[in-house]
Amino acid sequence: MRTALVRLFLIGSVCVALLALARYHYRCGREETSAPLILTRSLGASQAVGKSLYVISRAEWGAREPVVDGSVEGRYDPETNAGGWFIYDEPLDEALNTIVIHHSALPLSDGPREIQGQHMRRKGYADMGYHFVIDAAGRIYEGRPLAARGAHTGGHNTGTVGVVLLGNFERQMPTDPQIESLKSLCRFLVDRYAITHLAGHRDFQPEVTVCPGLNLAQLLPGLAREVGLIFGTGGYVGMPESP
Ligand SMILES: [Zn+2]
Repeated sequence: MRTALVRLFLIGSVCVALLALARYHYRCGREETSAPLILTRSLGASQAVGKSLYVISRAEWGAREPVVDGSVEGRYDPETNAGGWFIYDEPLDEALNTIVIHHSALPLSDGPREIQGQHMRRKGYADMGYHFVIDAAGRIYEGRPLAARGAHTGGHNTGTVGVVLLGNFERQMPTDPQIESLKSLCRFLVDRYAITHLAGHRDFQPEVTVCPGLNLAQLLPGLAREVGLIFGTGGYVGMPESP
């Protein structure tokens, strides 16, 4: 009888141990898929806004520092260089109104470093023109600091956030992780800033470009609705008049 009780106790202990092990594995597995997204410090957003977002920082992907003596994008001057490198005077939640979506139209292997190199060397920009880059795996990279006006949509850079997805969406489809990350990024920006609109590059410059490519462009009205934004260029304000 006593031996039977000891056996029962031993079997019971083994079962408890196995259950604990199984729960540990389950938890670990769950944590991998639902790991809390981490805010990047360089977004100035370490004070969480409820939802967080993991963005690969400039330091992590090896960005060059901005160079403000570029041939095209020198320092901002309202008279002589209205399109120059400009840091917003007002708080960002007052400065930003529209998210503009682009495609890179480059091979998928060309990431943020190649884009920054092209923009700085060939175009003479002070830095990468976009604020964010999303690769085919859905990874989000920090581009030009959000506090600096972008250089991505001719004549419509003031107050717009430039987001580029790697790929050529005239020929290919954006991947599901890319679209999911784009939505997460938009939601993050909507939560934090007074952004009201989302548009594709070609909505601002239909004569000039097909960017972000038909296969992505046709998803944007639905995507805008889903993240609580109005689709189109109607929210663009531009440079405030000088007093
Ligand atoms: Zn574009």
